[in-house]
Amino acid sequence: MENKVFSKDEWLEGIKALQSEYKVFVPVKAGDFHKFVRLEEQTIPDLDYQNTRLSPKSLVYPESERMFEFSTDENDPDYNILKEAQKDFGPQAIIGLRPCDAHGFLIVKRNFDNPEYKDPWWVRRYEASTLVGLGCNEPCGTCFCSSVGGGPFDEEGLDVLLFDLEDQYLAKALTEKGSTLLAKLDGGSEASDKELSKAEEVKKAAQEKISSKVDTSKLADKDVLELFNAPFWEDLAFACINCGTCTFLCPTCWCFDIQDEVYQKIGDRIRNWDACMFPLFTLHGSGHNPRSEKFQRVRQRFMHKLKYYVDKYGNGVQCSGCGRCVQFCPVNIDIRHVIELMNSH
Ligand code: SF4
Ligand code: SF4
Repeated sequence: MENKVFSKDEWLEGIKALQSEYKVFVPVKAGDFHKFVRLEEQTIPDLDYQNTRLSPKSLVYPESERMFEFSTDENDPDYNILKEAQKDFGPQAIIGLRPCDAHGFLIVKRNFDNPEYKDPWWVRRYEASTLVGLGCNEPCGTCFCSSVGGGPFDEEGLDVLLFDLEDQYLAKALTEKGSTLLAKLDGGSEASDKELSKAEEVKKAAQEKISSKVDTSKLADKDVLELFNAPFWEDLAFACINCGTCTFLCPTCWCFDIQDEVYQKIGDRIRNWDACMFPLFTLHGSGHNPRSEKFQRVRQRFMHKLKYYVDKYGNGVQCSGCGRCVQFCPVNIDIRHVIELMNSH
C-alpha cells in the first residue's frame, strides 16, 4: 500500500475533485464547534480541529430515516402495503474523521453486521463509505482512546490515515478502498524516508500526550448482578437531567425507535435515534416501565457500554474513548469515573 505526500493546498484541491465520484464529507467550523457537512462549492473544509461535537455516526446511520412508505387509502390497490422508501447508497468519502470515530463504527458494526442480525441500511452505507482518518497530533485532555483499544493514530477501521506534517499531509493507504481514493487525487508524490520517519515521530509524540487513562481490563471478570445491584448508581445518577446529550453525541450509541407518521392518506415508517436516558424509552404498551427511575436509566447506559457489551462480544467496551460525553454532559457525569467505580466494586 502506498504512502503519498501532498501539500495542504494540493490535498484540498484534490478532495474537491473527488466530488464527481463520491459524496464527500468534511469537517467545517460552525460557531464554536466543528461538524461534518457535504462538500460543496462554498464549503471551507477545516482540518485544523480537535474533533467534531457530533460524531460522524449520522453519515452511515441517519438521525431520522424513512424506512418504508404506505398508503392508507382503501381505494389504493397497495392499501397498507409497506414499500421500501428510496435511499441513497452511493459511494461516499468521509474526510478527516478521527481514529476514535472509525473505531466507533467498528463497535457499532459488531451489533449491526453480525451472523445473527444485519441492519441492511447500515451495512450498505458503511460498505459504501471510504473513511479517510486524520491522526490527532494534539489529543484533548478528555480523550482516552488508548485505554479502550485505540490510539491517536490507530489505523483500524480506516481506509486512509492522514498525518499532519505542518505544511503537508502524508496519506497512508490502508485498504484497497483507500488506495482507490488516493489514486483519484491529482498531485502528491511518493513519501520519502524522511517524511515517513517524521510521521512516526508525530505519532509517538501524540501517544505520549494522552494523559487520560482508565483500566477497562477488569470489567469482563466482574459479576454482572453484583454490578447491577451496586450501591453507587443512585448517587451517580443524582445530578443527571436525562437530557440525552451523551447518547446523541456518542459514536457508539445505536438505539432507535420506529414510528409511523401519516399525512392525509400517505404514511411513512420512520426510524429515529432514541436514547436509554429518556423516561419513555422502555415504556411498555401495558403502561409498565421497567426503568421508570432515573438511576435505572443511568445504570442502563453504563452497564450496556461497560458490561453487557463486554460480556456479549468479548471484544472490549462499547466506547471508543472519544471523550464527547465527558466534555458535553451539562452536569459533569464522567464515564471514566464510572469505570473506576465499577472496577473498585
Ligand atoms: S449528558 Fe449528562 S445529564 Fe445529560 S443524560 Fe447524559 S449523563 Fe445525564
Ligand atoms: S461513551 Fe462517551 S467517550 Fe465513549 S464513545 Fe461514547 S461519547 Fe465517546
